[in-house]
Amino acid sequence: MSDPYSGYLHQSNDGKDLSLPPGKAVCVGRNYVEHAKELNNPVPANPLLFIKPYTAMTGLTPSIQLPVEKGPCHFETELTVLIGSPLTQANEAQAADAIAGIGLGLDLTLRDLQDELKKKGHPWEIAKSFDGSCPLSAFISPRRISNIEDTEYRLWVNGELRQHGQTRQMITAVNKLLSYCSQHFTLLPGDVVLTGTPAGVGVLQRGDLLKFQLDTLMSFETQVI
Ligand code: ZN
Repeated sequence: MSDPYSGYLHQSNDGKDLSLPPGKAVCVGRNYVEHAKELNNPVPANPLLFIKPYTAMTGLTPSIQLPVEKGPCHFETELTVLIGSPLTQANEAQAADAIAGIGLGLDLTLRDLQDELKKKGHPWEIAKSFDGSCPLSAFISPRRISNIEDTEYRLWVNGELRQHGQTRQMITAVNKLLSYCSQHFTLLPGDVVLTGTPAGVGVLQRGDLLKFQLDTLMSFETQVI
């Protein structure tokens, strides 16, 4: 059996190992109103958090592997923050200082399975946190982004624009979200926070070609296998 996560290391945009151990991925559900609506979910009063383990992390390029025989797997493209220093009960300014990198991640989701679990009131882990469920791009230095609270990113599937996220449309903005996470879980160097998906999620098929763009700073393609 091939091992989908062994060897994953956080990389900078120029291909350097960032020397941060892969930790946990803290994810937020329903951080964009339009996405909550498309799945007929209520908009939560507080960020809805869940965690993927480091075994979920894998590179987003040159290809991503879909789980086999587990039902439809949806893409959710999310602005992803790499943590560079520990955060416990941090305020927003401390959170901003702890950001070591900004990139894109996919929160891969076995949607039918998740719906089934949600209906029963059960936890989502087997639909959200399986091996390879958190493909991550390289990370660019936060210094290269003038304002993280006003940046944007896009996903094209087979040439068609499917997702366009604008961080100013987040219900809980990035630094506030990191601060909120740190009230509940200590964030450690190498952890990542996926900040929620904009509308447009859909099913991935083997053979799909995905193109991602983060601001004007990063653009890359990946193949679904
Ligand atoms: Zn998500």
